[in-house]
Amino acid sequence: MKPLHQLGARRIAVGVRAREFSARDVTLAFLARVRQFDGTLRAFVDLDDERTLAAADQVDQRLAEGRQLGPLAGVPVALKDNFCQRGLPTTCGSRMLAAWHAPYDADVVERLVAADAVPFGKTNMDEFGMGSSTEWSAFGPTTNPWDATRVPGGSSGGSAAAVAAGLVPLALGSDTGGSVRQPAAFCGVFGIAPSYGRVSRRGLVAFASSLDRVGAFARQADDLAALLRVLSGGDARDATSVHDAPPDWRDDVPAGVREVRIGVLSIADVGTVGSSTGSSSTGSSSTSGSSTGVVPAAATVTEKRDCVETAVADALAASRAALTQAGATLRDAVLPGAADALAAYHLIAAAEAASNLARYDGVRYGTRVAGVNAETSARNTRGEGFGPEVQRRIVLGTMALSAGRRDALHGRAEATRQRLRTAFAELFENVDVLLSPTTPTTAFALGTRTSDPLRMYAADVLTTPASLAGLPAISIPAGHDEAGLPIGIQAVAAVGREDLLFRVAGALERAFGTPAIPTPFIEAVAS
Ligand code: GLN
Repeated sequence: MKPLHQLGARRIAVGVRAREFSARDVTLAFLARVRQFDGTLRAFVDLDDERTLAAADQVDQRLAEGRQLGPLAGVPVALKDNFCQRGLPTTCGSRMLAAWHAPYDADVVERLVAADAVPFGKTNMDEFGMGSSTEWSAFGPTTNPWDATRVPGGSSGGSAAAVAAGLVPLALGSDTGGSVRQPAAFCGVFGIAPSYGRVSRRGLVAFASSLDRVGAFARQADDLAALLRVLSGGDARDATSVHDAPPDWRDDVPAGVREVRIGVLSIADVGTVGSSTGSSSTGSSSTSGSSTGVVPAAATVTEKRDCVETAVADALAASRAALTQAGATLRDAVLPGAADALAAYHLIAAAEAASNLARYDGVRYGTRVAGVNAETSARNTRGEGFGPEVQRRIVLGTMALSAGRRDALHGRAEATRQRLRTAFAELFENVDVLLSPTTPTTAFALGTRTSDPLRMYAADVLTTPASLAGLPAISIPAGHDEAGLPIGIQAVAAVGREDLLFRVAGALERAFGTPAIPTPFIEAVAS
């Protein structure tokens, strides 16, 4: 038998149910891997061996009592550190919450335990989910498993890196503007943001409530489908929760894409055409097209743009060919208004964040920094507790909602969002799935974007449109560039149509292969 970490999550659950190995054996094997490999990766911010083993023992105990075990029997699942698990620290990557322990379990934690999964530690993230590289964590960055000098993406970078390196079979993240899909692309794993409301947000610390979604990571499409099914379902304690019974998407992964209509996003449509260096651009349209092998994408919110790298454009073309081969109908597609999504996203997300983060005043929540009166205490607490990116968002969001600016900023952003929803609705009259790269580039080097926020935001140009519309979207591994860095392809479908995403994911997994664990994390034989 292959070592446990090489088995998929569903295979592990089968083995536990059949008493081939115990949940404890599985947990011990993954704990050993974390101890061996997380020194360089730094994907985990909290992992308690005893507590994790106790959870595994409870699964073994239920089996011993003759109970029928659930679909994730004995499978370790890591949680991004913005999910509440009772009694555990939930820092959100922030000094503000460094000392806070969650008093209750998130809905998804309850569902994981009910499915006999083993909650397996907390993973690193950009502070309160604000970032695209995990460098905005107050506890230091996570590194990319494919190249330790690169970022893993963010904000769910710890979860993505842990799954990619085989330190855990499955992990949860949250996706507000791309925080599951973008790190999934950078780390070479599957990552899904389901339809808004599909998975309860109770116990997920809020960033931007109209955009926040619970998402998930796996190295195989069918494992991701199994995990999403466990997480999904109505929750009376989350007002935005959708109460439809979730379908069993595992059957969609092998179902194929025959007769699925797939539109391939015209990349130039995402913005004005930029230079091929990606560092900055004045938006000349004279270089339009891909004659240089570089298809530019741009974010009109900024003068800072990322051009779609040649290897990424090639992976999109290869995906298109593979899906055509598999029987899908492919055509070019445009999404009017996509170029405005990034700007609208940042105004809306910042406005909601400014409101959601008001509670961290050192009285209701947050590590209190004293002052001579309540106001200075709150000011000191927020000035020291929040890092620079969070402070920037609060200032932007407060400005977007301020009297006199509200219509011009927040109002306009909401109108853009509405137009984008309409554009998607019209698009989905003619195609079933919209295909694009997940990100314009592969993982960038650590330290290259933190001093340039607009460059950091540019990584989300292709993920924010689906966020604004609340549409299910998945990042699918589609090979590597010449430097060996993974490339992700994004598929987006209409609300409730995750089934189509899993069909496309299955087809591309068969074409590109199930992602391998990168060499530094392959265990020495006969350990
Ligand atoms: N990177 C985006 C941001 O910084 C998205 C973050 C997220 O989805 N949580 O806001």
